[in-house]
Amino acid sequence: MDIIDIIEKKKNGEELSKEEIKYFIDKYTNDEITDYQAAALIMAICIQGMTKEEILELTMCMVDSGEKIDFSDIEGKIIDKHSTGGVGDKVTLIAMPIVASLGIPVAKMSGRGLGITGGTIDKLESIPGYNVNIDVDTFKKNVKDIGISLIGQTDNLAPADKKIYALRDAIGCTNSLPLIASSVMSKKIAAGAEGIVLEVTYGSGSFMPNKTRAEEIARMMMMIGKMAKKEVKCVITNMNEPLGKCVGNSLEIIEVINALDGKIQADVYDVVFEVCTQIMIMSGKYSDEIKCRKAIKEKIKNGEAKKKFIELVRTQGGDVSYIENPDKFEKAPIIAPVVADKAGYVEKLNAGKVGKAGVKLGIGRMKKEDPIDHRVGIVFEKKVGDKVKKGDILCYVHGNNPEKTTECVQEIIAAYKMGSKRKEEKVVSKVI
Ligand code: URA
Repeated sequence: MDIIDIIEKKKNGEELSKEEIKYFIDKYTNDEITDYQAAALIMAICIQGMTKEEILELTMCMVDSGEKIDFSDIEGKIIDKHSTGGVGDKVTLIAMPIVASLGIPVAKMSGRGLGITGGTIDKLESIPGYNVNIDVDTFKKNVKDIGISLIGQTDNLAPADKKIYALRDAIGCTNSLPLIASSVMSKKIAAGAEGIVLEVTYGSGSFMPNKTRAEEIARMMMMIGKMAKKEVKCVITNMNEPLGKCVGNSLEIIEVINALDGKIQADVYDVVFEVCTQIMIMSGKYSDEIKCRKAIKEKIKNGEAKKKFIELVRTQGGDVSYIENPDKFEKAPIIAPVVADKAGYVEKLNAGKVGKAGVKLGIGRMKKEDPIDHRVGIVFEKKVGDKVKKGDILCYVHGNNPEKTTECVQEIIAAYKMGSKRKEEKVVSKVI
């Protein structure tokens, strides 16, 4: 077998055999296939697509490329959660402490932001001392001791996905159904949970352009889950505008703290409650959605969800005084208002444009090795559906450098579109 024949075959739109897919994944993981050859094959897959059988094989080969976590020694059904990516998506950080406070064990590995989509791990690292790199034994011990652990993906979990993901990002191949579905599911299957709840996003701030495409990818991931004997539920969400009030790492952590204190933005509330409800039902501890929602509200109201978040931060070495007093988070040196130049209703707030502007500001990285600044970001005062008067403040840009901040302000102005009528889109569009 030879990689050039495999590339030629996919380039011509033919179906790859199981052996050919395994050959590619094994050899690429072991650095026996070069990045440029892998890039050629990935581009051919991106253009030609893959059959259902090819996608299943690709996923399982990526699972087998590294370690698999075994949770059989932990009491309770572990349900994992993953988002296909978004701008301002802090759902994991609010939902998982709530779920843990309800006695459902949470063992979750999250990713870093890449491109315009933010990453839970970068957000957690804005809490001084929080260690995202603990080993698997400590990860499991924390789940046993306090019922929750949130860490970064270990180096050896689906390493083939890590290499392919970085390559896809560098060659414009992030937006591909077979590649997204196999990437998400390989990590989730290797991470060992019995059930998986996925936030599948669509819109300008995500990888899927529209609802139809998001549903297509959701069904594909459910099919992969079925084959791997994992229950999968997908919450399809609209990411045409950023989620919540803040975009930016420490700013989002402050929003998480406020949400756990009961001050939760309406769109974040909708996604968090839906994700928590699906996890609770999948755990087998609940069967009724109304009871789930009541229980979630109770855990926020009585402070137990926040207490669980504090316990998580303390156990992973973080300074809990920042959670108890969010004013301690260091502010960016420049806070620039973005002012409305006309009246009307906010008709659009393009998440893709906000995401791009945010990356340049230092929230995220275009390349893996780029530095990020945890302090910078955007705090929205007006979002889609809000009435605006000329001169109102639309949002604040928190920047670390005058030129970059001015550039971001201009780009954010371009992300807002005003109209004469109130228009709103639901954030949770469907659960399948
Ligand atoms: N999230 C992933 O883990 N992989 C993708 O390809 C897209 C989103």
